[in-house]
Amino acid sequence: MPEPIPSRAAAAVRHLRPDVIAMAPYTPGEQANDCIKLNTNECPWPPSAAVKAVLATIVDDQLRQYPDPVAVRLRQAAAAAFGVTADQVLAGNGSDDCLTIIYRGFLVPGDRVACPWPTYGLYETLAALQGVELVPVDFRLDGAQWRLPEALPRQAAKLVIVANPNNPSGTVTSVDDLRRLADRVEGVLVVDEAYIDFAEADGRGASLIPFLDQHPNLIVLRTFSKSYSLAGARLGLLFAQAPIVANLAKVKDSYNVNVITQALGTAALIDRQTHLDQVRRVVLERARLERELTTLGWHWPESGANFLLCEVGDAAERIYLGLKERGILVRWWNKPALRSKLRISIGRPEDSDRLLAALRELA
Ligand code: PMP
Repeated sequence: MPEPIPSRAAAAVRHLRPDVIAMAPYTPGEQANDCIKLNTNECPWPPSAAVKAVLATIVDDQLRQYPDPVAVRLRQAAAAAFGVTADQVLAGNGSDDCLTIIYRGFLVPGDRVACPWPTYGLYETLAALQGVELVPVDFRLDGAQWRLPEALPRQAAKLVIVANPNNPSGTVTSVDDLRRLADRVEGVLVVDEAYIDFAEADGRGASLIPFLDQHPNLIVLRTFSKSYSLAGARLGLLFAQAPIVANLAKVKDSYNVNVITQALGTAALIDRQTHLDQVRRVVLERARLERELTTLGWHWPESGANFLLCEVGDAAERIYLGLKERGILVRWWNKPALRSKLRISIGRPEDSDRLLAALRELA
């Protein structure tokens, strides 16, 4: 009699890496279609018409053949859009892929990664996978600002990662502070600019990309998941000095960005005006939502992102669940630093209206 499948599967699990069996998985925000989704910071509007038109131009041969492994056209478009050279750009299957490539390329078991805390949870998951230690250093809370901890560069870490704006706080660290940090870290500074377009909507520079040439130990990440409305297509970009890019390209999956995404991303980078308009719409709606939430007596750190981390106190979990019952998803974490807060993504004006009506009911 053959062994029943479940017990054979259990036996096979024992061959998995013990650290993988022991680790906690990264938990993304819930995905659902039949609700108002204010929990994963996607853009509430569709991608531009120019980007959608590209979908119809994909021909059989492009689908039949492998994509360009090094995404030349996309990287050239990125170089033109961001004022760098194409050999300073690497494309990833989302910026999560860019992060994985960085961890794989730089870190060996026993190394340390430091980041101000709390921040994007994937930095910790990737550390567990790579057998390295994540050193969280608490942000310095200063009124509506979350400031970089003084001790951040002194953690003997090979990588220091700062999300700017930070997720989940939305707070922005100044270019000057980040450049000082780049000068002080012993290893490499990674600045994850997933939400930077919303911080730059007022025309003020917040990105470190213009300073790449002055900081050889700097890596900057961008994503198309937020301001470009392409989270489903999965596209991220990594910017660094050419020798870093050339070496990191060795550790990526050969065809890590698919043919459709390369075409969509290239079109999105060329259609600058629609992108700027989209970002402005989000920022305008953020300002309106902030005015309305103020009338509820809520507060949050000053946000340069497309979300607000609202301080709600003991009611946070109840309100999160109450909103969910009413078909509105926001993000709540059952973790000491975040348990009293709700992170709310900026949606369309009608989404904000539904949210506010539900919050008034739940208050
Ligand atoms: N960095 C930060 C700070 C994020 O919040 C996110 C989105 N959760 C990502 C990176 C990942 O973005 P992508 O969809 O490009 O993988």
